[in-house]
Amino acid sequence: MDKQVLAKLGIISVMSLSQVNADALDHLVAGLSILQVARLVLLGSVLIDWLKLDGWKEKIPFYLIKCQRHGYQLSYPSGYNGSLVCPKCIREKIGS
Ligand SMILES: [Zn+2]
Repeated sequence: MDKQVLAKLGIISVMSLSQVNADALDHLVAGLSILQVARLVLLGSVLIDWLKLDGWKEKIPFYLIKCQRHGYQLSYPSGYNGSLVCPKCIREKIGS
């Protein structure tokens, strides 16, 4: 995924993950291959790309996940077990 795609998605930092452009996200989902869709359905996530956001030292793998409440979202492994958590759910928990 190049910078233009990131810009379309509205991703400039980690905090912006919860405010991804819905149309651009739909476009991303529509462009998935059959194998990627199968992976998403069977495993609950699919790797989209390795990205390096501003202020980060290295690239991190970004996954498309499907949240039961918020639909498709982009996330990256976090916490001790590297779990993929919906950024909108996190934002609601934090209450910001
Ligand atoms: Zn969610």
